[in-house]
Amino acid sequence: MTSRPEPAGPAALPVAGPARLRRAAWHLIRLDGRAFALVLLLNALAAAAGLVAPWLLGAIVDEVEAGSGTAAVDRLAWTILGFALAQFLLARYAAHVGHRFGERTLARIREQYVDRALALPASAVERAGTGDLAARGAGDIAAVGTTLRDAGPDLLIAAIQAVFIIGAVFVLSPVLGLCGVAGLTGIWFALRWYLRRAHGAYLAEGAANSELAEVIAATAAGARTVEAFGLEQRRNDACADAIERGYRSRMRTLYLRSVLFPVMDVSYALPVVGVLLAGGVLYDRGVVSLGAVIAAALYLRQLSQPLDVILMRIEQLQSSMASFARVEGLAEADGPVPAPRPEPVPGPHGDADGRIEVAGVRFAYAGSPDVLNGVDLSVRPGERLAVVGPSGAGKTTLGRLLAGLDTPRAGAVTVGGVPVSDLSPGRLRRQIVLVTQEHHVFLGSVRDNVRIAAPDAPDSELRVALAAVGAEEWADGLPDGLDTELGDAGHRIDGTRAQQLALARVVLADPHTVILDEATALLDPATARHTERALAALLAGRTVIAIAHRLHTARDADRVAVMEGGRITECGTHEALVASGGAYAALWRSWQGLPPPGGAGRAGLIGR
Ligand code: ADP
Repeated sequence: MTSRPEPAGPAALPVAGPARLRRAAWHLIRLDGRAFALVLLLNALAAAAGLVAPWLLGAIVDEVEAGSGTAAVDRLAWTILGFALAQFLLARYAAHVGHRFGERTLARIREQYVDRALALPASAVERAGTGDLAARGAGDIAAVGTTLRDAGPDLLIAAIQAVFIIGAVFVLSPVLGLCGVAGLTGIWFALRWYLRRAHGAYLAEGAANSELAEVIAATAAGARTVEAFGLEQRRNDACADAIERGYRSRMRTLYLRSVLFPVMDVSYALPVVGVLLAGGVLYDRGVVSLGAVIAAALYLRQLSQPLDVILMRIEQLQSSMASFARVEGLAEADGPVPAPRPEPVPGPHGDADGRIEVAGVRFAYAGSPDVLNGVDLSVRPGERLAVVGPSGAGKTTLGRLLAGLDTPRAGAVTVGGVPVSDLSPGRLRRQIVLVTQEHHVFLGSVRDNVRIAAPDAPDSELRVALAAVGAEEWADGLPDGLDTELGDAGHRIDGTRAQQLALARVVLADPHTVILDEATALLDPATARHTERALAALLAGRTVIAIAHRLHTARDADRVAVMEGGRITECGTHEALVASGGAYAALWRSWQGLPPPGGAGRAGLIGR
C-alpha cells in the first residue's frame, strides 16, 4: 500500500497510491462484472459494425474501377446503410448499459465513502479538518461520477474503436498499417509527456481546492470570533493565500493542456498523409488496390474521432483519477478499520468488567508540552464521578482520553482491562459516550435527531428520553410534534434545545459509561440541575463522569476529583473533601458565598 503525502499539510487525510487505486477500480468492476463485460461486448460489436462502411466504400471504388454494374454498387451501398443502423443501435444499447453500470458504481463509491468517513477516528477528522473531508465527499466524488457517467464509457468506446480501426488497416494492407502506426507516434509521445505530469498536477489542484474549502469553512464557522477579535485581515490573507495556491495549481494544469491539444491536432493529420503517400507508391507498383488505399485513408481519417474523444476524456480521467485517489485515500486514514481482535464482552452494569482505570497517563497535543502529567484514577462501574478544576487543568483532555478520542503518550486508559484505544469504533460507541457543549442539529425531524442513537426506538422511549432532559413539553408544542423538521430550512432551535436533544440521545444510546463535559452548561441553572437529576435517575447503574463547573453537580456525585495543572490533586466524597479543608473545601465555601476560613480564597478554581 503506497500513499503520497499531500501538499495540503502534514495533517491532511492521505491520498491513495497507484497500486491501491488499481485494486480499488478492479474491485469496483468485479462487483458489477457482468454489466461491465456486456458493455465491452456491445461496444466491440458497435465498433466492428462501424468498420464496415470504409471497407465497403473501398470495395465500391474497386467495383467501379473494374467496370461492374450498378446493381453490385447498390447492394454494397445498402449493406453500408444496414451496418450503420446496426452500429447506431448497438452503440445506444451499450451507452444505456454503460450508464447504468456507472450509476451503480458511483452509488457504491458514495456509500463506501460515508461508511469510511463515519469509521474515521474523531481525532483524525479533527487533525485533517472537516473541509477536506467535505471537499472529497462532494467535489471529488462528483468528479469520479462524471467520469463514470461520461468520460469512462466514452473512453472505453473510443479505445475499442481505435484498436479496431488500426486493426482493419492492417488487415487491408500490413504496409499501410505500419505507415498509419508510424504516423501515430507523435500522439504517443505527446500523451506520455502529458500523463507523466498530469496526475501530480491534478492532485495538487485537488489539494489546493480542499485547502480553500477548509479556509472558507473555518472563516464562516468562526465569523463571530473573527469579527469580535478584528481578525478580518488575517482571514482575508489566509483566503488570498489559498486562492493564490489554487490559481497556481490551475495554471499548471492549464499549461499542460495548452501544450497537449495543439500537438495532438497536428498529429492527427500525420497517419493519413503517410498512408496516402505510401499508398500512392504502392498502388503505382501494383502492391495494393486503389480501393484499399482509399479505405485505409478513410479509416485513418475516421481514427481522429475516437482519438479526439480519448484526448478530451483522458484529461478528465486524469483529474478524476486524482479525485478517486483522494476518495480512496480515506481507507488509509489513521486505522479507520481496526484489525478484528477478540474483545472482552462487558458484563452487566455493576460488574467488574466495566471498571475504568487511568494509570500514569501523560498526554500532549501535537507540538505542545504535556497537558496531563501523570493522571491516576479508578472509576468503578456505576459510579458517578465529578471532575472539577480551573480552566486549562486538563479536564476536557482527560474526558477525550476516556472516550478514546485521543491516546495517551504514556500510561494507559482501560475499560474492563482493555485499552480504550483497542476497542473497535462500534464497541467503543456502545461502551462510552462523550457529550460536550458542542451540539449538532441534524437536518431532519426531531424524531430523526434523537433516534440517531437508537434507530429502532419506539416513540414511547423517545418521549421518556425527551422528558428526562426536560424537552418533552417543548417537543409536543412544536407545530408537527416529533415530526417537526429542524435545521435552517425548518424550525430553528437554540443551543439549549440542541443540548437537550444531545442529552436525549445519550439516554436512548444507553451506553455503559457517559462522560458529560459541561454538557448542561447552556441550560439555565435550575433546568440544568433538574436535567442532571433526571438523567442520573435514568442512567442509574451506568458510570457517569461529569466534568462540572457547577458545584451542585459535584455534591450530587459519589466522588469528586479535583484537577489542577494536569494532575488529580484531590479525590474523595464531597463530604470527605469538604472536611479535609483543601482546595475543594475552599471552593465549596466560596460557592456557598461563605468567606474562606483564613481569609485567603481559592478564587478561580472552577473555570469556564
Ligand atoms: P480544561 O478542560 O480543564 O479547561 P483542557 O483539557 O481543555 O482543560 O486543556 C488543557 C490544556 O491543553 C490547556 O492548556 C489547553 O490550552 C491545551 N489544549 C486543549 N486543547 C488543545 C488542542 N487541541 N491543541 C493544543 N492544546 C490544547
